[in-house]
Amino acid sequence: MRLMSSGRHHATFDFGDLTVTSLRDGYVDMPPTRLHNESGRMLKELPDSVPLADGNLRLSVNAFHITDGTASVLIDTGASNAWHSTMGCLYDALAEAGIDTDDITDVAITHNHEDHVNGLIAPDGSEAFPNLRHVWIGVGDTAVFTGRLQPVGDRVAPITGKVAINNWVTAVPTPGHTPGHTVYEVSSSAGRLLVWGDTVHVPSLQFAQPDVSWELDGAQPQAREARAALLEQLTTPGYFVAGAHLDSPGVGRVTRNGTGYALEYLAPALA
Ligand SMILES: [Zn+2]
Repeated sequence: MRLMSSGRHHATFDFGDLTVTSLRDGYVDMPPTRLHNESGRMLKELPDSVPLADGNLRLSVNAFHITDGTASVLIDTGASNAWHSTMGCLYDALAEAGIDTDDITDVAITHNHEDHVNGLIAPDGSEAFPNLRHVWIGVGDTAVFTGRLQPVGDRVAPITGKVAINNWVTAVPTPGHTPGHTVYEVSSSAGRLLVWGDTVHVPSLQFAQPDVSWELDGAQPQAREARAALLEQLTTPGYFVAGAHLDSPGVGRVTRNGTGYALEYLAPALA
């Protein structure tokens, strides 16, 4: 997997017979008190390696577009204008990368939180993807399609188990962060890519200390177990990871490091 081009809000990678584009929706600041230890208590102190912005953790918010030149899948959609104003750049990112919203027919959602699902509806209230046919999402998270998101509810395809959603993407349920949290395994001629949603929120800490969990993990022991299993799986050679909250563009490879893991990014952070 190799970086081909990048811009302010996107980075495009050659992935054998597939092209992977990371799309930066923006960022969201969260207090460090969201980090919890194994007993569910707030961490007393943060290692110096964890950067803070005005006392907060700054989480990148990324979505990923993958295509074989004919079919494509957009994984997650950012927050549109329906959460903090530091997000909602997905549409600019798509334009910058030369991806036409008219060509997006399949959206795969990792889970039902605002920074992943709200981008299905554009800031003007219209559907962001006029030719949308399927919204893949874990069955435990489908209740989100009411109110603002109700217009796309008729295209929801609930995921109830491990299932291939096309020839090169398989949805794998990984409940924990939310009941319907789902990761997407992408297979290409150049290896495998795991688009893992909210498995890690604070990459500067949770690769080295995967037992540290996030307050918004609905079921923390289950989320911790899923994180441990996925990190171990990712140490297989030829396996890459793309994360919603890894530092934009958020694509890398995972190695073992002492009692934890390390993430090696494939591209420098977007400026
Ligand atoms: Zn998230």
